Amino acid sequence: MKTTHPFSPAHFEFDRELIERLDGSGPRYTSYPTADRFTSGFSPKDYQHRLQQRQIGANRKPVSLYAHIPFCNTVCYYCGCNKIITKDKSKADLYLDYLEREVEMVAGTLAAREKVIQLHFGGGTPTFLSDEQLQRLIGIFKKHFEFLSDGEYSIEIDPRKVKRETVLQLAKLGFNRMSVGVQDFDLDVQTAVNRVQTEEETLEVINAAREAGFKSISIDLIYGLPRQTRESVRRTLEKVIAISPDRLSFYNYAHLPTVFMPQRRIDEAELPSPSQKLDILQDAVQMLTDAGYVFIGMDHFAKPDDELAVALRQGRLQRNFQGYSTHADCDMLGFGVSSIGKVGSCYCQNDKTLEGYYAAIDAGHPPIVRGMTLTKDDILRRTIIQALMCRFSLSVEAMEEIYAINFAQYFEAEMPRIRELQQEGLLSFDGDFLMVEPKGRFLIRNIAMIFDRHLRERETKARYSRTI
Ligand code: SF4
Repeated sequence: MKTTHPFSPAHFEFDRELIERLDGSGPRYTSYPTADRFTSGFSPKDYQHRLQQRQIGANRKPVSLYAHIPFCNTVCYYCGCNKIITKDKSKADLYLDYLEREVEMVAGTLAAREKVIQLHFGGGTPTFLSDEQLQRLIGIFKKHFEFLSDGEYSIEIDPRKVKRETVLQLAKLGFNRMSVGVQDFDLDVQTAVNRVQTEEETLEVINAAREAGFKSISIDLIYGLPRQTRESVRRTLEKVIAISPDRLSFYNYAHLPTVFMPQRRIDEAELPSPSQKLDILQDAVQMLTDAGYVFIGMDHFAKPDDELAVALRQGRLQRNFQGYSTHADCDMLGFGVSSIGKVGSCYCQNDKTLEGYYAAIDAGHPPIVRGMTLTKDDILRRTIIQALMCRFSLSVEAMEEIYAINFAQYFEAEMPRIRELQQEGLLSFDGDFLMVEPKGRFLIRNIAMIFDRHLRERETKARYSRTI
């Protein structure tokens, strides 16, 4: 399957034989180095030091904020997120008390009242919070940060418990983007993963978001779930295309029951085979591009006039912990249990347990438990991986000038793999430019992995999901 879409960065070729042959395990590169390289050697003090350094020079860009709401009413069996299953809303009151103290602590360490260009509420289920709790949480951030009028303010929505009034309130609070979890419209599949959600519930939320003037509505789907067939996913996609979201994510379900407990409740005999999954993916790509969606990269699609597609065309696309983004170069301050942040040349992560998170804040320090300060080599490789994943080309000359290296010498160990993937038709390399070829767009992780020094050094590939 080939696309001849007029926007060249979106041009791709779905080479089924190649994908089948080269599909392996690999990170998603929402950061480089990836989060599993963070260590406990990075302390809350290191984080505070980095926050204070934001006063200096180029670091004065607006920030991106992320808040993690870990609670969910029920468990979806495919889930690989950090969440707490409860129906007790009062747990969220206590959580917000601590989150407020964390925000105060971090904002108090920053030299100035920072401007915010991006905010994301993720989970868990952010809409586990009541309307009052959501209002309180936004109020906490607005007290300490200045929200820019042209910012991207987004929230993940689970339509099963959200009514029209809540969506209208979210718009009043300043949210202008939402991603709506659907996964699959098929009742049989929904039953197999313990997430029964009617089309009416989904439509109520989306119609309300349109009524309230949300700028971008994204739908999240998953393929590779139990009981999915080529036909059932086609039916779901037809319904999704009729809803016409601005963006669409089509995630590959990674079945890792030894890592994610809820997945043990999935009947492996009901999972589609790798070949069936590839059929499903191939159909989806065909249907979505036929419907006018632009393939952004990895598992993301967007309408041609959506900001992501525009950023792709203009070479401004970036990647951060939430996936493809237009503001990933900003520092990201993460709040809440398990949240990840990026400040300057460091990454950091909060405690993953509620107990540890609360204890750290009670002890008067940020609940950071691990992170890392990037070396020059990490920063160079991060730049290369970002360029390949977001712009699909790399200027060797630019890398040599900026990082004062001889590319061929510096990456001598990587050259055999570069040549191999060149022979496979995934990339081209003439010494001056490394270009991702249309066939390489669906195997972009394989290309990025060439430059992942940590991956090479530590053989932990088995823990990653398959790239397709
Ligand atoms: S998939 Fe989302 S809603 Fe379901 S249990 Fe996991 S975090 Fe909660």
